[in-house]
Amino acid sequence: FQYENSDLPVLNNIHVEIPKGNTIALVGSSGAGKSTFVDLVPRFYDVSKGTILIDDIDIREIKIENLRSFMGIVTQDTILFNDTVFNNICYGQPNSDIEKIRSAADAANATEFIENLPNGFDTIIGEKGILLSGGKKQRISIARAILKNPDILILDEATSALDTESERKVQGAIDNLVKERTVIVIAHRLSTITNADQIIVLDKGRLVESGTHDELLLMNGQYKNLYAIQFRDIFK
Ligand code: ADP
Repeated sequence: FQYENSDLPVLNNIHVEIPKGNTIALVGSSGAGKSTFVDLVPRFYDVSKGTILIDDIDIREIKIENLRSFMGIVTQDTILFNDTVFNNICYGQPNSDIEKIRSAADAANATEFIENLPNGFDTIIGEKGILLSGGKKQRISIARAILKNPDILILDEATSALDTESERKVQGAIDNLVKERTVIVIAHRLSTITNADQIIVLDKGRLVESGTHDELLLMNGQYKNLYAIQFRDIFK
């Protein structure tokens, strides 16, 4: 894949197979191509050469709205609206009732803080959710994804610093979200990385290593270095 305005491809010679129900973690330093990789799946961009197939169908043959209807996307800048918590969670699923929204909020570890807001689920959260902390915004966007119940989940875990309590709650929400789905995750959390069915290490747009956490540690290569850096940063 090459961006239109750049001279060189940013992803080269990538071959990856993702079995249904597996969690694939992408790791690599900043600029390695992780966000570009996940952006190709819902067709925010189309590949310049090669193909992406889902169940043997080239995704360019699938209408974009149909393709995205079975994907959930949770990124660091998930879009929240200046509307109620209720409407933010059911965005894209307009006919959801309060029971379903509540159970999505429960699974996202969000019910308690929502009920403590001035008007509970009817509280307006401000432009881009400005009235909520980072961890709370993430849990609202996770609740939205849980409600949508997508077959394929694309997750860009936040790197932004959360306090320990918030981190734990977001982690619990993510654990509920990823259950029984096909997940492609840009991984920043150790738990996601160690539990992934397959870890793909990207470096300057190339796939340099892939395997499980244990397999990659044994290779003693880039993954081991990245892991050591993450470990140091998280527990310092
Ligand atoms: P990562 O997510 O691993 O940090 P990215 O996929 O964001 O990496 O970026 C990979 C490369 O593509 C970088 O060199 C980046 O500068 C470049 N890039 C990202 N987005 C664009 C864009 N919209 N146009 C041109 N180049 C881009």
